[in-house]
Amino acid sequence: MEKYSVIIIGGGPAGLTCGITLASSKGKFDFAEEKKYLVIYDDYSDLDKALLRNVPGIQKGIRGKDLLKRIRKQASEFDNLILKKGKVVEAHGEKGNFTVKLESGEEYRSEYLVVATGFHRFDIKGLDLEIIPHRKSPRPGKIMIKNEGGKVRDGLFVAGLVAGVPTMYASASGSGAEVACDILSEWAGKTVVVHDVPDTD
Ligand SMILES: Cc1cc2nc3c(=O)[nH]c(=O)nc-3n(C[C@H](O)[C@H](O)[C@H](O)COP(=O)(O)OP(=O)(O)OC[C@H]3O[C@@H](n4cnc5c(N)ncnc54)[C@H](O)[C@@H]3O)c2cc1C
Repeated sequence: MEKYSVIIIGGGPAGLTCGITLASSKGKFDFAEEKKYLVIYDDYSDLDKALLRNVPGIQKGIRGKDLLKRIRKQASEFDNLILKKGKVVEAHGEKGNFTVKLESGEEYRSEYLVVATGFHRFDIKGLDLEIIPHRKSPRPGKIMIKNEGGKVRDGLFVAGLVAGVPTMYASASGSGAEVACDILSEWAGKTVVVHDVPDTD
């Protein structure tokens, strides 16, 4: 069974931003050289329905589904980040040894697990999470997983709407980046971020 450094369940803005931020740490930290990351996503992201005019730096009027394609293409350009289509039905484990099972029967292992599954439902068995009403949704019936600043317990994080952030692209994406930096900081043993700068000014 293949083992990853981090498995991210969910390939919307939160999950993909988390994956891209983690993957972009290669070449910047010694500890990041051998790490590899897996994003697993099934068919639906809220972004599929959106038309965006208010995301800073993003072309005004872009369809969410086109933006999602563009982000997936960007993600696929990292050699340490794998995108896998499939529905996760079960997950177990603790820091250092999580197992994730797909509907297809495939299984993957990881050191860390990030759940970024949106706020409509949570039907993954086995993680013993506290599902509570979403605290910032304008619509009733939406859910989130109880967490402290994205952390649920050692090795297990949540990002995006399922972490309870407002249902805005920038909030979901930012939450994914924050969780990535928290994981990188644990590996580094100090607070780190991942910044690129031009070779010359
Ligand atoms: C109609 C509409 C219009 C919008 N307009 C705007 C706007 O103008 N501006 C703005 O900023 N925001 C807008 N948004 C909000 C924005 O789209 C969301 O905030 C954002 O998509 C949330 O990102 P997320 O990654 O948390 O969740 P999602 O995008 O919902 O992604 C969840 C991911 O988890 C995956 N998943 C869930 N369960 C499983 C499972 N069991 N196994 C595998 N994968 C799983 C899904 O396939 C998906 O990839 C709009 C949303 C909608 C619905």
